[in-house]
Parts: sequence; C-alpha cells; structure tokens
Amino acid sequence: MKGLVIRNTGNTYLVRDDNGTDVVCKAKGSLRLKGIRSTSPVVVGDRVTMDVNPDGSGLIRDIEERKNYIVRRASNLSKHSHILASNIDLALLCVTVRYPETTTVFIDRFLVTAEAYRVPVLLIFNKIDLYDEDDRSYVDALVDLYSGIGYACLQTSVLKKEGLTEIRDRIKGKITLLAGHSGVGKSSLVNALQGDDSQRVGKISDYHLMGVHTTTFSEMIELDGGGYLIDTPGIKGFGTIDMNIQEISHYFPEIFRFSSGCHYNNCLHINEPGCAVLKAVEERYISESRYHSYLNILEDVKEKKYR
Ligand code: GDP
Ligand code: ZN
Repeated sequence: MKGLVIRNTGNTYLVRDDNGTDVVCKAKGSLRLKGIRSTSPVVVGDRVTMDVNPDGSGLIRDIEERKNYIVRRASNLSKHSHILASNIDLALLCVTVRYPETTTVFIDRFLVTAEAYRVPVLLIFNKIDLYDEDDRSYVDALVDLYSGIGYACLQTSVLKKEGLTEIRDRIKGKITLLAGHSGVGKSSLVNALQGDDSQRVGKISDYHLMGVHTTTFSEMIELDGGGYLIDTPGIKGFGTIDMNIQEISHYFPEIFRFSSGCHYNNCLHINEPGCAVLKAVEERYISESRYHSYLNILEDVKEKKYR
C-alpha cells in the first residue's frame, strides 16, 4: 500500500494511504537515505510504501525518491542536516512591509534558496488593511518588481479576509510550505484557510504519541479545499545550502539573464570591467535592492568559505 506521510513524531509516522485512511507506522530499520544524513529516516511529505499489519498498524518499507526537501542545520559547525519535510510543491512566503517590516534582503534570501531547491514561491503581502498611502505604493512597487522577475504575488488582509480565495486557488491540491517572520500573520492565515469544520491532521490517540521527540516533530495541516500546509515551528525557510560564489547569480533569474553578456566568464559582478550586470543595474533593468541582496549573500558565502 502506498501513502503520504502527514505527521512525524520522531519514532512513529502517520501515513495517509491512497484511499484516505490514516495508518500509524513505524519505519523499517533498514531504511537508509541515499547520501543524506537525518535524525529521522522518514519525513513529512514522503511518499512511502508500507505493509499494513492485521492490527491496523503499518511498517514503512520504502521511500520514493524526494523531488526536494527542506533542511535545518543542527548548528553552524555541524555538517549534519536535519530534514524537516520533502516534496514541497509551493512555498508561500508571507511578508509585511510594516508591523513588522520584512526587508527585501530577507525576501531575496528566501527566494534564492527556493530557486536552489527549485520550489516555486508565492509571495503574500499581508496586512494591507493597515497601510497608509506610502506603504501601499511601496507594496505595489514590490509586487511590480517581483512579479516582473516571475514570482507570483498577492496582496491580502487575512484580518479582513481579503485575498483568501486567491490563496486557496493557488495552493489547492499542493503541499505548501508556509514561511515568513513571526508576526506577519501565518497562524491567522492557517486558521482562516482551515475554515470551521476542518481539523488539524493527526488526531491520533495519546498512546501513539508516547515518546514524542518535539525537535523532530512536524506535521501537515489538511485544507478544506484539498492540499496540505506544512507548519513546522521555527522554520525560517529553506536550509542553508552549500553554495559557491559563482553559483549565487544563478538564483537571481534577472541577474543571471544579464550575466551572459559579461566580459569575464567568472565575473562576480562586483566591479569587473565589461560587467553587463553592473550596466543593467545602472540602467535600472535590475533593481538596486535585488543587486544589494546579491552582494549581501555574496559576502556571506565568501566569509563562510574563507574564514
Ligand atoms: P505569525 O507569527 O506569523 O503566525 O502571525 P499571527 O497570525 O500570530 O499574527 C500576528 C498578529 O497580526 C495577530 O495579532 C493577528 O491578528 C494580526 N494579523 C494577521 N493578519 C492581519 C491582517 O491582515 N491585518 C491586520 N491588521 N492584522 C493581522
Ligand atoms: Zn558581471
């Protein structure tokens, strides 16, 4: 029987089989991930094959290849990554330009990792009900900027229930990761999307939850309209991947497009002669804020590499 892992308590997994029945599973001891270390062999979002026992419990015997996954590093010094979830179809980045302010550097850092993981992003500009004219025109400018690059954008007020239908349409039938600063409205959004008669996934008996390791615990929330939201506490976005400095511009689609015109193959677009990217920034084909974020990430990657 095949199914989708919708909850991970560290030692048991809740798997929804293809008929919609939830099965509490253990993972077969021999399950090993190819080339990826993790504290848990099975994660939320995994498509698995399981054997179901006569008592209704299950044993996961195989994991389908993951199309992507998000990781959290145990620490900066550790090479061990902890995989939080897999097979994400869409990342929903919730931002507010005020109350609290989300900076463009934060947005761009998120977008870069999403590009690296090849996960499409939907940018939600929330709390528009709070904004004055200046804030609104700033949001409009950001929407122009990011939709111009190719990222889907929506303006919403979760409080006033504006834009929720559009969000529902976009995430229907998908596994969506919800990310954004604390205070931008993520929990409010989850509640609003769930409606009244839905329930959090995984209302299973306490017996099965014994021995929960809260650090590895993660779950998906099933939505009324179909689809799942991954709501993992503390997740800031995608894990830090090991990027080399040449690679960074590949994850800024508009910078990458211009970089083919640079004089030097290995141009980093800092101050090199004949740099087509710098020229495009000057001529405003590439936005200052995006270029600033690019330099910012470049510095970061350099420091980690050469320190
Ligand atoms: P989270 O930390 O991202 O989960 O944010 P919350 O959902 O807890 O929201 C933080 C605060 O912002 C709460 O007081 C919400 O009621 C409020 N909030 C959320 N969305 C909106 C919105 O669209 N407009 C306004 N005015 N407040 C909102
Ligand atoms: Zn260049």
